[in-house]
Amino acid sequence: MSDKKKSTQYSLFFIQRFKGKVLFNVPMSEYTSLRIGGPADVMAFPQDDADLKNLITFAEDKGFPYQILGNGTNLLVRDGGIRGVVINMCEGFKEIIWQDDMRAVAGAGATLASLLNGSRDRGASGLEFAVNIPGTVGGAVVMNAGAYGVEIKDVCEAIELIGRKGKPALVKKEDAGFAYRKSDLPKGAVVVRAHLKFERNTVEEIRKKIDEYRAKRRAAAAIHMPNAGSIFINPEGHIAGRLIEEAGLKGERIGGAEVSEAHGNYIVNRGNARAKDVLALMALIRDRIYGTRGIVLEPEIKVIGED
Ligand SMILES: Cc1cc2nc3c(=O)[nH]c(=O)nc-3n(C[C@H](O)[C@H](O)[C@H](O)COP(=O)(O)OP(=O)(O)OC[C@H]3O[C@@H](n4cnc5c(N)ncnc54)[C@H](O)[C@@H]3O)c2cc1C
Repeated sequence: MSDKKKSTQYSLFFIQRFKGKVLFNVPMSEYTSLRIGGPADVMAFPQDDADLKNLITFAEDKGFPYQILGNGTNLLVRDGGIRGVVINMCEGFKEIIWQDDMRAVAGAGATLASLLNGSRDRGASGLEFAVNIPGTVGGAVVMNAGAYGVEIKDVCEAIELIGRKGKPALVKKEDAGFAYRKSDLPKGAVVVRAHLKFERNTVEEIRKKIDEYRAKRRAAAAIHMPNAGSIFINPEGHIAGRLIEEAGLKGERIGGAEVSEAHGNYIVNRGNARAKDVLALMALIRDRIYGTRGIVLEPEIKVIGED
């Protein structure tokens, strides 16, 4: 289909059948914590489930690819950007409903910070590990975000999805395929809400735990340049950041990308980094660690888009 025809189809759909905001030719660098990424053809912000269902159905019918975006804090978007539609969950799905003091249904676009604040104030314990993790509930569920041995799966009971053909589904925790920094939800499915269950504790104890976790994050907190958190998953029995530090790679640079001096597993954007710089630096790190230690580092960040 020609670009002109595609753009007419998009326009008609968004005018006639979509309630949320729509942007065209959007620099993804404005929507990722690394501040890197070429333009997305279209970014749509569904307002509610019906909007999302319509959008998925339309994209599938027309064969337009779609990509789901939370806060973009675990993403590297390539320099050529993203063809098709980026579905941004951060406007229409922010609601957190507390069913009682220990149970909440949180929208995928709600930030972990807002959920943590609400749970802390109710004496609902379980999410303290998420202090200073800048993602959304949806991104955290898909990535099974965690820290210090605790993960979102520990508080997540079920997940509401909108899947292929706009079909809704409720997936129980045990069927979500949660593992270290990943889940196994159906391909193309959008997380719309997570059902969460907390443990009762005192507000003071929860605050104390949060402070303890925050203190452990000293190295990362010292990083003031754009980044996407840990670049690599910890290989079994090892800590990726330590391996990288021991290999003498802290401070290593390619173009505008640099291995952080403060934390070996963080790559920072010194201001003008391109995705190709980050990818080349990741390849250099992987080669060096494999060459010297025989250990394969697997990326934690998701790399999307075109060169
Ligand atoms: C400073 C810093 C510290 C961090 N510390 C940690 C940490 O301690 N532990 C940790 O686990 N992570 C950490 N992260 C990484 C990141 O914050 C988490 O993985 C977070 O959960 C990602 O959420 P997001 O909304 O930003 O997701 P995005 O980056 O927007 O997306 C991540 C992936 O999830 C998919 N996705 C997002 N939302 C949805 C949805 N609603 N439905 C379906 N798919 C979706 C995207 O398509 C993409 O594949 C850190 C990041 C930074 C920048």
